[in-house]
Amino acid sequence: MANTDHISTTNNTIDLHTHSTASDGLYAPAELVRLAHEAGLRIIGLADHDTVGGLAEAITVGQQLGVEVIPAIEINTDLPNKQGEAHVLGYFIDYHQPELQESLRLLREARQLRGERMVQKLREMGLNITWERVRELAQGSVGRPHVARALIEGGYASDVSDAFDKWIAPGRPGYIPRYKLTPENAVRLVRSAYGVPVLAHSANIQDAEERVIVPMVEAGMQGLECFYGQYDDQTVGHLLGLAEKYHLIPTGGSDYHGPNMHPTPLGGRFVPEMCVERLRAQAAANRQQPAKPFTLPPPAEG
Ligand code: AMP
Ligand code: ZN
Ligand code: FE
Ligand code: FE
Repeated sequence: MANTDHISTTNNTIDLHTHSTASDGLYAPAELVRLAHEAGLRIIGLADHDTVGGLAEAITVGQQLGVEVIPAIEINTDLPNKQGEAHVLGYFIDYHQPELQESLRLLREARQLRGERMVQKLREMGLNITWERVRELAQGSVGRPHVARALIEGGYASDVSDAFDKWIAPGRPGYIPRYKLTPENAVRLVRSAYGVPVLAHSANIQDAEERVIVPMVEAGMQGLECFYGQYDDQTVGHLLGLAEKYHLIPTGGSDYHGPNMHPTPLGGRFVPEMCVERLRAQAAANRQQPAKPFTLPPPAEG
């Protein structure tokens, strides 16, 4: 029998944070939606990194199977002074908007250049991995997980997280920073396309409240991912408290990328229905007024 450890066997019906081969997930959008259906999910959010390229396919298959696919995105940003990353989700985004598509194209172009430079750096250290192979592994938006897979194939790491730890996490020898986008600008980008911006897995960020959440709220953030992956009850409770304090919509999901990528199975985290209904209502409200246009600034230093 096929290995199904990576698919939830709970009664959960909602998972708002998943990835496909449009970015660094292992399943094509159609396949992901089929798996979600088999897992008993009724609603999923497809939030690929810097691309909306998987959404049309996922939504079409979802309509055939009776799975609602919420159009979403995840934009990884860097905190100033090398203080880590903040990932910004955008729900119910207008993924047909040409301005959004152009901004995302620029972000993906920067990802390509960065990927190439990382491979070059690793090759200069004597590792035999190639950009051609990384490009083959990445069918859409290129990310470090694709470099990680090439490292595993080359025998330089035992799994994805070993590849990060040894080579491509910040401070490791193969690391090169991404196009520097601030979390606030990612929030503005999501809002410019009528999406609901949400700070992802923020318990992974130290002192997130003052340093990250407050400025993001001032920039227009509207949600906080609380029911995330393996977060324990205490962490979820703390995040729900922050969400209430700043009037943010709590969201949640598994961050599913496929087998052996992240620990939580597809659908493996309970997400209350109220999250979806609040996101839906907020998205409808956002569309009542013309969105403020946003253009990506040139990459910042630091
Ligand atoms: P990038 O956006 O190219 O910098 O790649 C970041 C992505 O890599 C994240 O969104 C995660 O999906 C994945 N990632 C980051 N750190 C790890 C890790 N330690 N183990 C496995 N995947 C990771
Ligand atoms: Zn990812
Ligand atoms: Fe993330
Ligand atoms: Fe994610």
